[in-house]
Amino acid sequence: MIEERHLGQVRCSYEMKRLGEHQHLVCRGCGRVIEFESPLIRELVAEVQHKNDFCVTRIELYLEGYCHKCKEERR
Ligand SMILES: [Zn+2]
Repeated sequence: MIEERHLGQVRCSYEMKRLGEHQHLVCRGCGRVIEFESPLIRELVAEVQHKNDFCVTRIELYLEGYCHKCKEERR
């Protein structure tokens, strides 16, 4: 039982390493997709995993808005 739990954790941390590093900003004006990364996302996932005893294997973060260029044009 303990071993199984340990194995599960190992497998989970292996999956964690494969998680996509890049998240996406999508511009509503020109449709540009800008990749960004933040260590905060990894921290958030680690916290959520711990609190919910859940192994996260995929993150899809999609933020929609206006890029620098489109933001300027909308003024
Ligand atoms: Zn744009």
